[in-house]
Amino acid sequence: MRMSLDKLHLCGDFNEQINNAERKLIPHLKRFMECVAGDSEFYSAVQKNAAECTPLLESKRIFGVDPMQAAALIPETAPVMSLLKEIPAIPTAELEDKPQALLWRRYTDAVARYRGTWRHLHEKTPSSAFNAWRQRQINRCHSQLSRETNQAIVHTAIAFELCKGCSMGCHFCGVGAEPLQMVYRYTAENAKLWRDVLDVAVERLGAAAGGGVCYWATEPSDNPDYFKFVADFGEKTGIYPQTTTAAPLRNLDWTREMLQFRREHSTAMDSFSILSLNTLHRVHDIFSAEDLALTALAMQHTEPAVRSRAQSGRNRKVGSGGPQPGPSQDHTIACLSGYLINMAECSVRLISPCPPSGRWPLGYRIYAEGSFSSASELNDFISKTINNCMPEQIAPDDILAFRRDLKFIPSPDEEGFKLLSKYRLHKITGAPHLARLGELIAQGNLTSRRVLQELMAQHQDVLAIMASMQKIFDQGLLEDGFSDKEAAGRQEV
Ligand code: SF4
Repeated sequence: MRMSLDKLHLCGDFNEQINNAERKLIPHLKRFMECVAGDSEFYSAVQKNAAECTPLLESKRIFGVDPMQAAALIPETAPVMSLLKEIPAIPTAELEDKPQALLWRRYTDAVARYRGTWRHLHEKTPSSAFNAWRQRQINRCHSQLSRETNQAIVHTAIAFELCKGCSMGCHFCGVGAEPLQMVYRYTAENAKLWRDVLDVAVERLGAAAGGGVCYWATEPSDNPDYFKFVADFGEKTGIYPQTTTAAPLRNLDWTREMLQFRREHSTAMDSFSILSLNTLHRVHDIFSAEDLALTALAMQHTEPAVRSRAQSGRNRKVGSGGPQPGPSQDHTIACLSGYLINMAECSVRLISPCPPSGRWPLGYRIYAEGSFSSASELNDFISKTINNCMPEQIAPDDILAFRRDLKFIPSPDEEGFKLLSKYRLHKITGAPHLARLGELIAQGNLTSRRVLQELMAQHQDVLAIMASMQKIFDQGLLEDGFSDKEAAGRQEV
């Protein structure tokens, strides 16, 4: 199969700015970088003597790449870097005499710009309550998770599972996938429900539905009808969703169908999860650089990737039985602030990312869960969760309490208080009522009505107090309705 970048409209203007020779070179530069990132022997050989590496490159079916030029980018690609630390970019001025390195830089910049645009296009739904809730989740995540983790989380509004469980059984599975129990086949009955469910998703979530995916704690290739489902998804939303498979070599017909599907619908880039060096070698043997032009290879087998794995799901049990200190302690691979729908068992959850913990071991909070037997029941679930779980304002009877991971720091000299999380210092200062407002919320047992009454008794400005309470709420600094009982049993809607 031949695949070129000429269909890659996902990089927008970039495609217009490069010539044919550059377009043909990019998949080979991509493969060079994959080998650097995923194959330590390749990396060492290029580091040692790039000038002599042309035969090595050709053995990987990398053609046209000048290893001396491409090697200039090794420091920002190399496997020694931690995935949870930002890698400093080589200054462009140092690449001026290396057009291939500059081309690769321009390409990766274009992909990054595309990702930013993608997020923007799929972040708003027709529901102001959902949008406000999602923004609160984003604000909370910026307080609870590292910058690098936040950069990776897109806060997708919807994700579907087309199986129950996963056949791969990865020992490090961050979402704790159960063994494969059920495959949702594309029968006439299932196809009707699926298409009706997609109609509900589009009606309720608008363009944000197009940012969804059709896998979660599932392996797409477990479902022989996977591409029939994603074809419907594309027809209904206008976007043919991104697919990641951890089993690219298990059924080559299925994988070739995946590559072919993406060639025909280049609205996203797909991924192979590479679980071993042997898999990387075989993938490079079986598929040409052009075949994989629209398929990223996620190097899960490298030492930095292993060190950076989220300590959630099955990975929480590794080692001494609990989370290990380190950069991955708060990392989560959950990227959904919205609805997780399993079509095989007709279940639905409203979830949002958070640091893995004993309370939320999968790296996401569960706000509500339920089941459905028809698209209209799913629609009802969405209505109820928007009404019950996504208030846009604090209600008078709500108990006000700061998130339990925040440390309250009174700051009377600055007319207010501060809240310290692991990653942020939130300053709520600069108005006479704020110091007392902070103290009252810090008590953790007063309703918003009572807090307001207390402050009004001191002749404070009621509108300013209410505006401050709303701001604290919008920033995701308040506990949002989970009692311990609810956390244990979750909220059935
Ligand atoms: S990591 Fe992915 S492929 Fe592996 S068990 Fe979990 S869901 Fe399945």
